[in-house]
Amino acid sequence: MTTQLDTQALISLLKEALPASEGPIALHEPLFKGNEWEYVKKCLDTGWVSSVGAYVNQFEEMLSKYTGVNHAIAVVNGTAALHMCLHLVGVARNDEVIIPSLTFVATANAISYCGAIPLFCDSEERTLGIDAEKLNDFLLENAEIRGNACFNRNTGRRIAAIMPMHTFGHPVNIDALLLVSDKWNLPLVEDAAESLGSFYKGRHTGGFGKISGLSFNGNKIITTGGGGAILTNDPELARKAKHLTTTARVPHQWSFMHDEIGYNYRLPNINAALGCAQMESLPEYVAKKRALAQRYKTVLAGFKGVCFFREPADTQSNYWLNTILLDAPDITQRDDLLEKLNEAGLMTRPAWTLLHKLPIFSDCPRMDLSVAESLERRILNIPSSVRLG
Ligand SMILES: *Cc1c(COP(=O)(O)O)cnc(C)c1O
Repeated sequence: MTTQLDTQALISLLKEALPASEGPIALHEPLFKGNEWEYVKKCLDTGWVSSVGAYVNQFEEMLSKYTGVNHAIAVVNGTAALHMCLHLVGVARNDEVIIPSLTFVATANAISYCGAIPLFCDSEERTLGIDAEKLNDFLLENAEIRGNACFNRNTGRRIAAIMPMHTFGHPVNIDALLLVSDKWNLPLVEDAAESLGSFYKGRHTGGFGKISGLSFNGNKIITTGGGGAILTNDPELARKAKHLTTTARVPHQWSFMHDEIGYNYRLPNINAALGCAQMESLPEYVAKKRALAQRYKTVLAGFKGVCFFREPADTQSNYWLNTILLDAPDITQRDDLLEKLNEAGLMTRPAWTLLHKLPIFSDCPRMDLSVAESLERRILNIPSSVRLG
């Protein structure tokens, strides 16, 4: 039997953790309070608003310096970044790519853009990300190495990569996933769209796999309006990423030579200008988000029926979206709570619909997804904007 929740008490506790507010409190709002106006104005004043300009390079350098990953390539959005990452590690038509079912649809869409197919993996309770041990067990039973490649015995297709996602900013179990990646010859691509500012054993997320993607959409920890970036320590992959995202044009003073089908994925200078100003504030934003999480944790300690999700051991999370987990996987209780919290002016959202349940992906191969199914019924995201910290 599901425990009865004292919803009114929960609402009061959450309000205790938040600054006083007259109106409803949003789930996640951007914050501009530094050099954003100055840098964007400079773009307008000089006319450098589009696909060339100094802010693009500066933004890439700031990303590389902050994350400690050698190369950063700014692109139009996080989905485009992931598409390029997969393409660059060789994902091709009819390949399969392992991703969690519990993720935003963009993770799977990027696979589809390569003509490839998601292979849905279960998540673990501790990190909300891919369960590496369960994945390894699945591969032992269902996959085999032929030549240098890993094949799904059930579908006959090649499995070309693993793309974990750092859910709500919380790093996955990277060490365990690197072992699986190594053992099965599967390049690791990180969907780090939500984890700018999150560290695993002292190193920034997005620097562990071969290549990774970030997002600067309006709801992420920093925003460029729309935007994304590719991170990699591999200079050759970085060179190819820059080439491919800039229409594969061979550098020349006047001639238009393109040596492969390229993409117009370059981040405009005006967006990069916003990004530079936002990057200056990032350390403070991370500190504020961690402070808010700490307050939620304190007020919810001992509350019966829900727990506040905390960063996994050995990680430092950006707490992009704060999460409470219901004890019971009870969709009625979840929806009732969603309704009451939203009514009380606390904007609250459930987790994404698991991707294998979307009609567009319902035919894709998958393993047992019982933990993801349980998490889907128990996750609630609560207000998490930087300014609330
Ligand atoms: C935001 C996000 C993306 C990319 O989103 P864009 O809106 O294309 O920048 C990809 N994966 C996850 C998990 C995300 O949260």
